Order: sequence, then structure tokens, then C-alpha cells
Amino acid sequence: MLTDKFDRTFPYLRLSITEVCNFSCQYCLPNGYQKSNGPSFLSQDEINRLVDAFIELGVWKIRLTGGEPSIRKDFTDIARMIAAKPGIETMAFTTNGYKLKENAQTWRDAGLNAINISIDSLNAKKFHQITGHNRMAEIRDGIDKAIEVGFDKIKINVVLLKAINDDELDLYLDYVKDTPVSVRYIELMQTGDNLHYFNKYHLSAEHIKTQLIERGWVENIRAIGAGPAVNFSHSDYAGSIGLIAPYSKDFCSGCNRLRITSTGDLRLCLFGNVGVPLRHMLQNDDQKEDLKAAIAKQLNYKASTHFLAMGDTGILSNLSSTGG
Ligand code: SAM
Ligand code: SF4
Repeated sequence: MLTDKFDRTFPYLRLSITEVCNFSCQYCLPNGYQKSNGPSFLSQDEINRLVDAFIELGVWKIRLTGGEPSIRKDFTDIARMIAAKPGIETMAFTTNGYKLKENAQTWRDAGLNAINISIDSLNAKKFHQITGHNRMAEIRDGIDKAIEVGFDKIKINVVLLKAINDDELDLYLDYVKDTPVSVRYIELMQTGDNLHYFNKYHLSAEHIKTQLIERGWVENIRAIGAGPAVNFSHSDYAGSIGLIAPYSKDFCSGCNRLRITSTGDLRLCLFGNVGVPLRHMLQNDDQKEDLKAAIAKQLNYKASTHFLAMGDTGILSNLSSTGG
């Protein structure tokens, strides 16, 4: 298993397969995706070799992300290829849900078993305002479909935005009363592109935590190897609520993930200052041992924490290139 100097282990890989997205979320791609003349996104063959190396290094959970991963025409083929590999226990993806309703069954059949769907507001108008798309109702239908076709783990990502959606906790609680999903509030993160937006709309997740406790929700004991989310449950509710607070003390001590950008750079941290190019080692099957050695070596350089609180966002311009 990949281990760093701080005894953190890394069973989890987040793999961005495209930067392209059809939404224009205010905090991520406010002007929509702008085509660049940069390198192409990783091919299926390159992804295949990359994943094989990571599995041999102990990875058992892979999340496809982006951009919007389902925008790639070969998204289902990529998912099927990875899910079929011995050693993969959790085959996950994060999506804005725009194709979920029609594809949930196909994706489940392809071997995807965990899904995160972003839905930043349960108010249709606000959803439109945040994402640029008036599609909240159809995305909610997609979530119903994902439950129906038997995804094991369904999480709803909500980026907490001051004075935009910070008054919606009770709507989300109503939603999880009978719906067995985990809603996760994510604190807005500063990136290279969104400083002004961040300053205006960032709100600490403590705001939600206080309200949960007032409403009788209980913080769960943290499982060994669990990621950075702090989870709350309530015996009267089918679903749960999680808080992801990257600015909180100790957030990084639970780090269990590595990231690969859509063009094949290893990122040790979402907010790190270095991207380590791996693509040149993804060209032939006989490069696998070199690739594994290069990845393992990089773990020595993983810092104990990010420096977000000091406004250092590293080389990240927005989350569409690296995935959230
Ligand atoms: N397009 C897909 C989606 O939106 O679910 C997957 C990629 S998106 C970059 C992954 C997650 O990152 C989403 O839940 C999104 O809301 C979140 N995200 C993007 N930018 C963010 C930021 N600046 N702060 C916090 N979360 C962010
Ligand atoms: Fe697209 Fe996801 Fe970024 Fe929204 S958060 S613009 S859906 S990549």
C-alpha cells in the first residue's frame, strides 16, 4: 500500500478524464468551459496502464471525475474497463447528473457502484442561478433512478454558499428523511480563478454543524481510513449529512487520496504546487515497473497539509482540471 512520511495510506485514486463541462457553476467555470490548445485528455489505453499500476500499489477505490466525466463518449467503456479489474472494490464517479436519468441502469450494469451527484440547491431558481442550468427537477429524477437501479453508495454534493443556499438545511433534511442518500456540504474552496467569489460567498461548515446539533443530529465515530468528511446521523432519518471543511484543523490528517489530472499529471494534493507528469510512462505495457517506482517515490514529497488558510491555492486554477 502507498504510504507517506506521515503514515497516511492511499487506497483511493481520483482520476479526472476530461476538463470539459456543459455547466457553468459560479465557483468553478463561471464562463463555461473554454476550449484550450493544450494536450489531449488521457486515452483509454493510457488510463488502462495507469490504473493497473495503481492497483498493484494497493489502490482499491477509483473515482472518475472531471470536468463532467459523463460528457466523454467513452465514459461507460472506461468505467466498465476499470470496474472489471480484480482488486477494484469501489468504482465511483462524480457527476452534475445531466445524463443520469437515462443512463443510470447502463452505468450500474457497467460496474459503477458509487456515485456523487452535485446539487447545490433544492430550489429550482437558485439551482439555475448557481449552475447556469434550469435542470434541478430532472437531476432529482436521475437520483431517484440511481437509487432504483441499486447504486450502493449515493452522495449528494452541496457547495455551501453564504446568502445563496445557507438557508436550505431543512430542505435537505426533508429530502433525506426517507431517501437513503448522504448529503455532503462542502465548504467553498478558494482556487486560482475565484478569489473574489470566495471572499464573498465562503461560509464555514460550522454554520451547518450548529444547526444539525440543535436538531438532534449526532456526529458519527470516525471509521479508520475514512476520508476527511465528518458525518452526522439521526435515527428518524433514512439518509445522513456530511461536512467537508477543508479549512478546519486536522482536515489533512485523514487524507487518503491521490489525484490524476485529465492530461496525466499526478497531484499529491488538490492544492499542491507541483504536478508530476506521468503520461510519458503510460505509452507501453513494459513501462509499468518504472511508473510504479515513480509514483511511490513521489509519496515522499507529500506535505502534511495544504496552505489554503494562508490563501495558497497551489497551481489549481479551478476544480474542472483536477476534479473535486
Ligand atoms: N462536474 C462534476 C460535478 O460537478 O459533480 C464533477 C467535477 S466537480 C469539479 C466535483 C465537485 O467539486 C462538485 O461537487 C463541485 O461542486 C465541487 N467544486 C467545484 N469547485 C469547487 C470549489 N471551488 N469549492 C468547493 N467545491 C467545488
Ligand atoms: Fe462543471 Fe462540475 Fe465545475 Fe459545475 S462543478 S462547472 S458541473 S465541473
